[in-house]
Amino acid sequence: VDTERKNFVRQVPRAVFSFVRPTPLKKNPRLSAVSADVLRDILDLDMDTVNDPDFLRFLHGDLTVPNESLLAHRYGGHQFGHWSGQLGDGRAIMLGEYENQAGERWELQLKGSGLTPYSRRGDGRAVVRSSVREFLCSEAMHALGIPTSRAGSLVVSDDPVVRDQFYDGHVKTEKAAIVLRLAPSWLRIGSLEILAINEETEILHNMVNFIIEHYFKFINSSDKGSILVFFQEVVRKTAEMIAMWQSVGFTHGVCNTDNFSILSLTIDYGPFGFMESYDPGFVPNTSDDEGLYRYEKQPDVGWFNLNKLRLALQPLMSEEEKTIASMLLGGYADIYKSKYMELFMIKLGFENKHTYTESDEKLVAVLLKIMQDTKADFTMSFRELSEIRLSELETFPFNASMSQQYWALPRLENHELFGEWLKLYQQKLTESDIKDEKRRKVMMMTNPRYILRNWIAQVVIKQTENGNFDEIHEVLSILRDPYKYNVIAEKKGFAGPPPEWSRLLKVSCSS
Ligand code: AMP
Ligand code: MG
Ligand code: MG
Repeated sequence: VDTERKNFVRQVPRAVFSFVRPTPLKKNPRLSAVSADVLRDILDLDMDTVNDPDFLRFLHGDLTVPNESLLAHRYGGHQFGHWSGQLGDGRAIMLGEYENQAGERWELQLKGSGLTPYSRRGDGRAVVRSSVREFLCSEAMHALGIPTSRAGSLVVSDDPVVRDQFYDGHVKTEKAAIVLRLAPSWLRIGSLEILAINEETEILHNMVNFIIEHYFKFINSSDKGSILVFFQEVVRKTAEMIAMWQSVGFTHGVCNTDNFSILSLTIDYGPFGFMESYDPGFVPNTSDDEGLYRYEKQPDVGWFNLNKLRLALQPLMSEEEKTIASMLLGGYADIYKSKYMELFMIKLGFENKHTYTESDEKLVAVLLKIMQDTKADFTMSFRELSEIRLSELETFPFNASMSQQYWALPRLENHELFGEWLKLYQQKLTESDIKDEKRRKVMMMTNPRYILRNWIAQVVIKQTENGNFDEIHEVLSILRDPYKYNVIAEKKGFAGPPPEWSRLLKVSCSS
């Protein structure tokens, strides 16, 4: 640990953490939103806490609490394919670790809480827009069953923050916000990389042992080959996490190794996006002009990042272990593909199998091709296939009342391959002895009706920036139950086509 306790920006060799205090917000800090689930399930707090002025102070770094350990973490990372050297927590500060009544340990961080030694050219702050997005998406992903860090609260303020709003060329002043975010560990692939690349081998060794002892409890770190079992687990969990992203159209936007959790959680929400009309080339981040991190590339990027992890672990491996590690990484593609097929077949109402045939693959691929050609909405195509009875789907063309109820299906139905696809689908359902009621039931629990579309986030951002916090509460309560028909969500048009104005929305790395 670096004990300087100062937040001036610097290189900090041979340290994993630096002591540093958060810088509280000054002007008019207000509690914009909390996640009741996080308060209750993770922090053992009841909702009355929200009215305690000390709680607000705690949530923006203005309260000293017993046993706190205020730390910024030093890590490195490969950004857009290239080694960037020291990065680190430039604007997130750990408050400490909390062990809850369920016996789980959670590390609490305040993101946007001021300068640290790792702030580089940044100001240590986060704007309202990116903080709203991280807050909502963390909780939305959790509700979708995807491994993710969590978000407990959002505090907004009137403290000015300057960001380059690249699209109109003007420098715009925005307002600072702080998100309380939580994960069992915030260590990343880049946490190990910086130690390996700087030849800080003893610290690397300690960190790997620490990770295995604390987060991979079934592995005994003193056993021979434990590092391989650890690596194999990270490979598997990362492959599965990315298959889960693909299954809901989630595109992270900045898949650098410093944004890849060692626990294979989705972390560091920035310019992410959920695909709307199905497009493998979807790029949510306008700063990614080469589309390096586009939707269809995420599985490859997962491999790339795991390969960087493999290289970071090499200083701790024998020659034999190095060979085995390469073989383990070689298993990535199969693990990914079988998880992908499992998830997409469940999305179509089938039970989990362990092997998938070419015709299963065709069933998924042809449907996606139809969506792509017809620009049908990815989320709603699956959702409407869940809601409609197969007997209704057969009676082409849709009658007028059905065309009102559905907006993705009429597009799919127009495609020349749809009839053939439907026949294959029915045939497989019959073979698997899946009745329509059961199919629909499975699919409704798997295919969300509501996702955090960019335009929805934008509506919340506007309201929150104007000091109106009703919208963020409503959207959070919709997204925490994304499979359940919600009257308010329907009124807001959340399951319908995005509004015309949303076409111009852009999201960049500026945050
Ligand atoms: P990201 O790819 O957005 O997760 O961030 C990459 C690196 O930039 C991390 O080390 C962040 O801590 C740092 N960073 C991003 N924004 C800021 C900021 N406003 N102030 C200080 N550091 C920042
Ligand atoms: Mg262990
Ligand atoms: Mg990051």
